[in-house]
Amino acid sequence: MSKEFDEIIDSLKAYIDGERISGEEEICFPPMEKKVGSVTGKDLAVLKKEVSVCQECSLAKTRTNVVFGEGNPNAELMFVGEAPGADEDRLGEPFVGRAGQLLTKIIESIGLKREDVYIANILKCRPPGNRNPLPGEIAACSPYLVKQIDEIKPRVICALGKFAAQTLLSSEATIGKLRGKFHDYLGVKLMPTYHPAYLLRNSSGKKDVWEDMKAIAKELGIKVKKG
Ligand code: SF4
Repeated sequence: MSKEFDEIIDSLKAYIDGERISGEEEICFPPMEKKVGSVTGKDLAVLKKEVSVCQECSLAKTRTNVVFGEGNPNAELMFVGEAPGADEDRLGEPFVGRAGQLLTKIIESIGLKREDVYIANILKCRPPGNRNPLPGEIAACSPYLVKQIDEIKPRVICALGKFAAQTLLSSEATIGKLRGKFHDYLGVKLMPTYHPAYLLRNSSGKKDVWEDMKAIAKELGIKVKKG
């Protein structure tokens, strides 16, 4: 883990701790309500098998592994990123590189564990050289994400970064304009925020991410008491 990464994590922790002890707010994290009814993950497993052999776009030729997504099939909070990077392509798991480690810390900052949430991407295969996804690739792959969301039925989706937010919301607005408030995505509340990879390069975004995470926590039943 690089020194820069450690500094960002420490900085994020310090900011969160500062918020907690500032006297302005006392933040409590009671357990989230469980949804009525649950999915076993069986339908997701069937879908994962289908996606694992997908040849619907040209990325099938260059991928090492399909990165379907992972997490709690009953998750109330789902994160959606852009596409797998090199580490994810190699391992077949979402958000496992430095940005993934930072995402884990961000999840933990609101009292959850990584295994409590579900994490997926718009695209299931890595674009070569991490280039931006092409419209045809998005059109081919997005039905899988829609099915994942339909199976998991999260109460809140957090779109990580400009690309995921713009794609899910069919918007060309900047992430700076989109973040900070809930939008509607197929009847689910969607909060855009900065991508962890952006935070690795621009630690000034951490305050905004913390504000967005607090709003998500509140929406999920987390009480934020005035001190
Ligand atoms: S990116 Fe999506 S549509 Fe394209 S091959 Fe991979 S799974 Fe199929």
